Amino acid sequence: MKPAAFEYVVAESIESAVAALAQARGEAKIIAGGQSLVPMLNFRLLRPAILVDINRIPDFAYVRDEPDAVRIGALTRHHQLERSPVIARHFPVLGEAMAHVAHLAIRNRGTIGGSLSHADPAAELPMMAMLLDAQLRVVSTNGMRSVAAHDFFQDALLVDLAEDELVTEVALPKLPPRTGWGFAEVSRRSGDFALAAVAVTLTLSGDTIGQARIAMTGVAPTPRRVSEAEALLTGARIDQVMTQRVIAAVRGATEPQTDLHASSDYRRHLVGVLAGRALADAWERAKTA
Ligand SMILES: Cc1cc2nc3c(=O)[nH]c(=O)nc-3n(C[C@H](O)[C@H](O)[C@H](O)COP(=O)(O)OP(=O)(O)OC[C@H]3O[C@@H](n4cnc5c(N)ncnc54)[C@H](O)[C@@H]3O)c2cc1C
Repeated sequence: MKPAAFEYVVAESIESAVAALAQARGEAKIIAGGQSLVPMLNFRLLRPAILVDINRIPDFAYVRDEPDAVRIGALTRHHQLERSPVIARHFPVLGEAMAHVAHLAIRNRGTIGGSLSHADPAAELPMMAMLLDAQLRVVSTNGMRSVAAHDFFQDALLVDLAEDELVTEVALPKLPPRTGWGFAEVSRRSGDFALAAVAVTLTLSGDTIGQARIAMTGVAPTPRRVSEAEALLTGARIDQVMTQRVIAAVRGATEPQTDLHASSDYRRHLVGVLAGRALADAWERAKTA
């Protein structure tokens, strides 16, 4: 199918993009990589009167290494994150996750701002934003605000973003020293959306875990942190009993759907297995970090 007719506006700056959104009064959509939006237009699931193209905005795709955080411009492509030495140094778990996002052609176009704003319930970047306590910078003609990833994802394909707002930057606070990470995903074919995926970071304090983070995707309407499992791990070491307790907590925090690809029971079982693998990898890496 072809999209319904729309007017096409090329924004030359962030200011002109948000001005176009404000002027359209809810009738406009931003187009970034177009990898999620264009199929929705073609199926006429969306019929915006105006498309505001942000691809020509200068200096909108960057990965900046600052003292406390890494700052990522909203137009940064998935493939740039996958290849970035700054990401490899500070957030290897994110680099690993990016290799699981779709195929290279899609990773060359898809952007971090687009993936977070689209908020597919099985996407990797929203899970990474939750895991890494990302802060999103959101701009409109009324000014700028900062939103924690924790508050941003509200439901499947629903985020805390008004129709006249643009995500401009994602800040990832740096992880403490002695942090290990693990990532595990299963999809039906390489490049497909995850049936389930889990990411873990463990930060050691002495010879026990000082801080644990566990995030998952594909098993609830939004990506989730598993606070019950994180609390269990604080002050603990990993052994078989602890791993089983964490797996049970992870499974208990899911709300998986049955769909064409997998049953709810299968997804709940799978996410526990993946949590066990990611946890073991994070523990081994933390001990040698
Ligand atoms: C075959 C296929 C397989 C895929 N597999 C995966 C996968 O395994 N994992 C995965 O995570 N993703 C996958 N994707 C999705 C891909 O990662 C998309 O690139 C991503 O979800 C959207 O990014 P985009 O830049 O293309 O956004 P667009 O498609 O351009 O936009 C998506 C939505 O976000 C809005 N938007 C875009 N940028 C901004 C911004 N800066 N501020 C506010 N709103 C904005 C748009 O208005 C639109 O509503 C797949 C896509 C395809 C086609």
